[in-house]
Amino acid sequence: MDKCVLVVDDNDFNRELVRDILEDEDITVYEAEDGSSAIELLESEQADDIDAVLMDVRMPGIDGIETTKIIRTKNGKCTDVPIIAMTADGFGTEMEMLQKIGMNGLISKPVDVNTLVEQITELAGW
Ligand SMILES: [Mg+2]
Repeated sequence: MDKCVLVVDDNDFNRELVRDILEDEDITVYEAEDGSSAIELLESEQADDIDAVLMDVRMPGIDGIETTKIIRTKNGKCTDVPIIAMTADGFGTEMEMLQKIGMNGLISKPVDVNTLVEQITELAGW
């Protein structure tokens, strides 16, 4: 598999939207609708395929922040996977906080196609 991104978002519509954008770029998309499923996926055999993660910050249950912390502190094979936060809150001091807990980038919602593709391409090292 060439390019693969895991999209973690509790909102079906958002996942669908991001999937369409990425698939247009010939990127394979895996989906998780919550933090627990994302963590599970990143520990499974499919984890080997994943080049980057798009992580919604606000999710019921384990939110994007906690999910990222768990991914970063596990001893699994995906502890270094690039993680890009998706949030409607915009930029500012939040990016500093997100970097501290191990996120690599930030995308504002509504998602801009070019920004999304550029950030993922850069962070995934394609
Ligand atoms: Mg959400």
